[in-house]
Amino acid sequence: MLLQPAWYRISEMTNSDIETVVVGGGAAGIAAARRLSQARINCLIVEARPRLGGRAWTVPDRSGFALDLGCGWLHSADRNPWVAVAEEQRRTIDRTPPPWTQPALPHGFPEAAQREFRKSQEEFFARVSERAQKEPDVPAADALAPGSRWNNLINAVGTYISGAELERVSARDFDNFDDTGVNWRVVEGYGATIAACGASLPVALDCPVQRIDYSGKRLKIETAQGVITADQVIVTLPSTVLAETEELFLPSLPEKTQAAQSLPLGLTDKLFLSLEGAEEFEKDSRLFGATDRTATATYHLRPFGRPQIEVFFGGQLAAGLELDGERAFFDFAVSELTGRLGNAFANRVKPIHIHRWGTDPFSRGSYSYALPGMADCRSKLAAPVDDRLFFAGEACSPGDFSTAHGGWLTGVTAANQVIAARTIMRDRRNPSRNKAT
Ligand SMILES: Cc1cc2nc3c(=O)[nH]c(=O)nc-3n(C[C@H](O)[C@H](O)[C@H](O)COP(=O)(O)OP(=O)(O)OC[C@H]3O[C@@H](n4cnc5c(N)ncnc54)[C@H](O)[C@@H]3O)c2cc1C
Repeated sequence: MLLQPAWYRISEMTNSDIETVVVGGGAAGIAAARRLSQARINCLIVEARPRLGGRAWTVPDRSGFALDLGCGWLHSADRNPWVAVAEEQRRTIDRTPPPWTQPALPHGFPEAAQREFRKSQEEFFARVSERAQKEPDVPAADALAPGSRWNNLINAVGTYISGAELERVSARDFDNFDDTGVNWRVVEGYGATIAACGASLPVALDCPVQRIDYSGKRLKIETAQGVITADQVIVTLPSTVLAETEELFLPSLPEKTQAAQSLPLGLTDKLFLSLEGAEEFEKDSRLFGATDRTATATYHLRPFGRPQIEVFFGGQLAAGLELDGERAFFDFAVSELTGRLGNAFANRVKPIHIHRWGTDPFSRGSYSYALPGMADCRSKLAAPVDDRLFFAGEACSPGDFSTAHGGWLTGVTAANQVIAARTIMRDRRNPSRNKAT
C-alpha cells in the first residue's frame, strides 16, 4: 500500500518554524528526512515538483507495466540501501544479470568482433585507472588507444555511463566510480520504491525554493509558497540547478557555485517502445544501433520479458534529439533498428514513453560527472557551511555519484552532520548538561 505524503502548504502551516528543512525530495532528500525523523528532529522536505522522487520516477504504461524513466538499476545491489527499502515494501526484486554483462545480439556485430570490442574496452578501463593515479588529471578520452577501430563505441558506452563524451570527463573521477558489479531491478519500479519511502514524511510539494538567507541568526528559506525559518538546511538540489542559481544563497556561496559548475549533469534519456512479435528475441537481450560511431543508442529488448524495447540515448546524441522534440527520439531509434533488423521492423514498434531530462527545469540533466581536473569538487560540494548549511545529492558522493544509492548515502551523511551540529548547539545552550555529575 502506498501512503500519501504528509502534505503541507507553507501558507497554511500554523508554524512555519522548522528545525531542519530539506530542499529537494529525491533519493537524497528522502533518505536525509527519514534519518532526521528517526532522530526525532522536526523536518520538512520542500520539493519543487508535484511529486516525490526527482530523477527517480516510475510511470505505468497502458498494460500496467512500471516504466522507470529515471533510475532503473539497483547498481552495487549487494550493498545498495534501497534493496532493503524495496524488501520492506514487499517489492519484487529481479536478479537477472543486466544485458551489458551478456554478449549483444549478433545482428551487425558478429561474436568475434564483440570479443575484440570487449577486450579493447577492458584495456581502456585499465589505462584510465593507471592514468587516474598520475598528475595532472586528464580527460578520460586520453586513455583511448590511438587509431583503435573501437574508440567510437567505447565513447558511446562512455555516454551511457557518464552522460557525456569521454573528452569532457575527468579520468580520475571516472575511475573513482565504485561499483560491485551486482545489478538488480525492482519489477514495480525503482522510482516508485523511492517515492514510497518518502510517503510518511512531512513534505511541501509544488514548492520551489527561491532563496536560502543565512545572513541572520535563523535561516530564512524563501519558497514559492512563503517563508520558512529553520536552524539548519540540507540542500539536495541537482548540481546543474545549483550551478545555474547563483542567487540561491544570501550571502552568495561562490565556492559552491564553482564546485557545482565543475560537476555538470551529463545527459541520458530513455525511450520505451512497444514491440510486436517480441518472442523472436531473448528476454533481456541487447543490440547496439551502430558500432562505428559515438552517436548511437543501445536497445534493451524485452526488459523483464515484456513486449517492449528500452532505448538508451546519451551525451550529445541525446542533447541534439531533445532539441528536435520527442518524435526525433522515435525516428532515430527506428532508423537504427531497421538498419539492423530490416525495414519491416518499423511496423513492429510504437512509442510508449520518453522523458527529456535535459529540458526538465528541476533536473536539467541526468547524472553528474566531473570535468577534467575537477574530481575533488565532489568533497567541496558536500562540505557543510557555517554548521547550518549541509549538502547532499548524488553529485556529492565520492564514489557512488550518478546513482540513486549515492543519493541515499549522501542524504544520510548530511542528516548525521545535522544531528551532530544540533547536539553541539544544544550543549552550548545548556552547558550544565555537559558537566560531569
Ligand atoms: C535516464 C536516467 C537513468 C538513470 N539510471 C540510473 C540507474 O539505473 N541506477 C541509478 O542508481 N541511478 C540512475 N540514474 C540516476 C539517479 O536517478 C540519480 O542519481 C538520483 O535519482 C539522484 O537523486 P538526488 O536526490 O541526488 O537528486 P534528485 O532526484 O534530482 O533530487 C533533487 C530534487 O530537488 C528538486 N528541486 C529542483 N529544484 C528545486 C527547487 N528550486 N526547490 C525545491 N526542490 C527543487 C527536484 O525536483 C528533485 O526532486 C538515472 C537517471 C536518469 C535521468
